[in-house]
Amino acid sequence: MSQGDTRFIFITGGVVSSLGKGIAAASIGRLLRARGLSVQIQKFDPYINVDPGTMSPYQHGEVFVTEDGAETDLDLGHYERFTDANTSRASNVTAGGIYNAVIRRERRGDYLGATVQVVPHITDEIKHRVRVVADSTDVDFVITEIGGTVGDIESLPFLEAIRQFPVEVGRRRCMFIHLTLVPYIGHAGELKTKPTQHSVNELRRIGISPDMVLCRSESVLSTEIRKKIALFASLPVDAIISAYDVADVYNCPLTFNEQGVDDFILGDHFGIDAPPPELDSWRALVQRAASLDSEVRIALVGKYVRLEDAYLSVAEALRHSGIHHGCRVKIEWVDSETVEDPETQSLLRGVDGILIPGGFGGRGFEGKIAAAKLARESRIPYLGVCLGMHVAVSEFARHVAGMPGANSTEMDPETPYPVIDLLPEQREIADMGGTMRLGADPVKINPGTQAHAAYREGVVYERHRHRYEVNNHLRKQLESAGLVFSGTTPDGRLVEISELPPEVHPFYVASQFHPEFKSRPDRPAPLFRDFVGAAYAHHERRASRAQAGGSQVVAPAAQ
Ligand code: GLN
Repeated sequence: MSQGDTRFIFITGGVVSSLGKGIAAASIGRLLRARGLSVQIQKFDPYINVDPGTMSPYQHGEVFVTEDGAETDLDLGHYERFTDANTSRASNVTAGGIYNAVIRRERRGDYLGATVQVVPHITDEIKHRVRVVADSTDVDFVITEIGGTVGDIESLPFLEAIRQFPVEVGRRRCMFIHLTLVPYIGHAGELKTKPTQHSVNELRRIGISPDMVLCRSESVLSTEIRKKIALFASLPVDAIISAYDVADVYNCPLTFNEQGVDDFILGDHFGIDAPPPELDSWRALVQRAASLDSEVRIALVGKYVRLEDAYLSVAEALRHSGIHHGCRVKIEWVDSETVEDPETQSLLRGVDGILIPGGFGGRGFEGKIAAAKLARESRIPYLGVCLGMHVAVSEFARHVAGMPGANSTEMDPETPYPVIDLLPEQREIADMGGTMRLGADPVKINPGTQAHAAYREGVVYERHRHRYEVNNHLRKQLESAGLVFSGTTPDGRLVEISELPPEVHPFYVASQFHPEFKSRPDRPAPLFRDFVGAAYAHHERRASRAQAGGSQVVAPAAQ
């Protein structure tokens, strides 16, 4: 398909939030890819923050970082993992971002004295953001997910913009898919279609008639219920899809395919003749993920462990690595403020690996230092990501390199040994939003290191999100004490990876970048892959020691 032929799919949500629009969009993206078509998925978020970069993880979950350095919604992670296509700055647009652009233009005088209004100025900007993706990537399909729920005040400008969109590009190039909930009412013993009916009506009131309805429900919808929904939605029954609960989200594209979602979109709706779907490798992956027979336990030590979404890509990268090694990864969520508690101590001693992910601020930092020390001294595999590297370096400095009180200046500006310090270019920055070192940068990997064994390449591109770095003034001192800086920027100026040599520790690696953002179900991030591999080996070693009766430590049951 040539440019100008791009088709547009808009996904809206109804009834309640958190129905999994992101997974639905990603699954449809996967199916279209499987039919040989190129896809870009974008998300519109109706909140006023310009991006989620400054929001608390408890508000928003993880901040996903794109290759080009945008701080975005975690759904973009789903899009990348399902479609294996990188997203970009254009892939996540907030109401704040839209208003910001329009107001900046107004201040410049670009509107030549006109009154600037939601319609047409805000809606025009929204439509422009859809077209930008099509124009810049020349893809066959742009899928746009509209965050929020139909009926929300905030969503209205976005819905009005997508209502107008077909007028500009032609109705035959657009499709509207609506995701709703069909709840099961226990005491009545029935699935209820009324909320879906109301939600479709609400959408129609705005002027959008859905072309397909995806119905979330606990179990598969009967044909009878689908017919009922089809009737009030004025749609053929094939357009009513049962998006029933599945144990593994990676199963969704397959359940959609079984119900003819891709056939309906391509054939019935757009009239596109596409090759049959190539889903064998995806199916094999889902089957492999469902039949893992052993288990490794990884402690994830962080501040936001009450909300697992705060570490979504990290958890996914661990899962991908487990699928690679044929083992399930059980994450033990450890609150960094509880590390010194006796129960946490014994839990940490029993796990197969300890992971410290990215983070900000001093709360819980000392707990993370204690966890890293335990991993180092007990030879438990360790992976540090970004702040997890700052922890590893500070801990090593304090307890091995003879630098008492060593710290990151983020935690202690007065530390006698500022082993981690602000990047020089960060010193003058006052604005918090979008001003970190962000996005993919080249990392030079030194041969003969764990990092090189993982990547098997001299230069790799990994995504960053930080302000602080290993302090070059103390680098030599740390190296002479035995810390290995196995990755740096190509000019050698910034440390990118630190590790302990294999004769000292089986796996003790930390990176300044976030490898988790590039992990894919069938291509785990190399550092995560080797970390889980080392954890698996640790688990096996412990199990055989326990079997031989040579250890008090009881290995976790392999099932
Ligand atoms: N707070 C640290 C910094 O800004 C680490 C950031 C992170 O872990 N993403 O450098």
